[in-house]
Amino acid sequence: MTTNIYTAKNKQDNNMDIVKKINELKKERNAVILAHCYQPGDIQDIGDYVGDSLGLCIQAAETNADRIIFCGVRFMAESAKLLNPAKMVLLPDKYAGCPMADMINAEDLRNMKKEHPGSVVVCYVNTTAEVKAESDICCTSSNAIKVIESIPKDKKIIFVPDKHLGQYVMDKSGREMILWPGFCPTHQRITTQNIIEKKEQYPQAKVLVHPEASKPVRDMADFIGSTGQIVDYCRDSETRSFIIATENGIIHQLRKLNNGKTFKMASDISICPNMKKITLQKVLNALENDEHQIHLDNELIEKALIPIDKMMALN
Ligand code: SF4
Repeated sequence: MTTNIYTAKNKQDNNMDIVKKINELKKERNAVILAHCYQPGDIQDIGDYVGDSLGLCIQAAETNADRIIFCGVRFMAESAKLLNPAKMVLLPDKYAGCPMADMINAEDLRNMKKEHPGSVVVCYVNTTAEVKAESDICCTSSNAIKVIESIPKDKKIIFVPDKHLGQYVMDKSGREMILWPGFCPTHQRITTQNIIEKKEQYPQAKVLVHPEASKPVRDMADFIGSTGQIVDYCRDSETRSFIIATENGIIHQLRKLNNGKTFKMASDISICPNMKKITLQKVLNALENDEHQIHLDNELIEKALIPIDKMMALN
């Protein structure tokens, strides 16, 4: 027991040293740290901005910093590079990818377009730059309905890659869409049984669900929204307790911002291993050694930026 306390104290001191160095180097190198709400708590705590994909895109586009340290997964860092190509964008762990983004590649999408000529292609931001380059307009979970409603009614729509978000948008907008059968393995782990059990324990709690969750889970929600919208909902709500059905990193933000309110995750296993790859030491390495830079060629940047710019213009 004594050893454990000693080890924990050493780790805490070590982390404090790393955070101090990060803050010093950040100033020296004119860097900004952008952190997604699904990051580990200690990474969120060093973020200059913590938010969802849309919020992070906006910050990346507007920053004056020379370096963007992106604490998230690869497609997010790529989006930052697309939006601000003159900046050095660093992903502290080069293996932090997104399994859902990897469920479709540019060739898959080209084939889909051939099968449905004349369709408007909407890509979720959780896609590679190559897939974005084949798309007409991008969306995030915050603005997907708005994006779909901006498309003329006589147009067929292809939506990639998340079938759950796609189905949610179809239900909300009343628009038919051709869906790619991708999904987020982390949100897929959340079940209706999880919600039933948590509701039995916390009957007064509101159930908040991310649209990447499956339809049966969404059907049990009091509110469906992106991570940013869930954070705002909890802040503004009179309710004191919440069951949260999304990736578990969000709990850190929710507890930090809402003293006296209770938050329970719907599932104990809705944890994205890729989002947890970033550590304080890796952020420090990124700042010290300019690792790992996101490189995209100019032609790709030009093409992939078009759908992102169209989305940003709608906001
Ligand atoms: S939570 Fe899901 S969508 Fe987000 S990065 Fe992880 S696998 Fe991808």
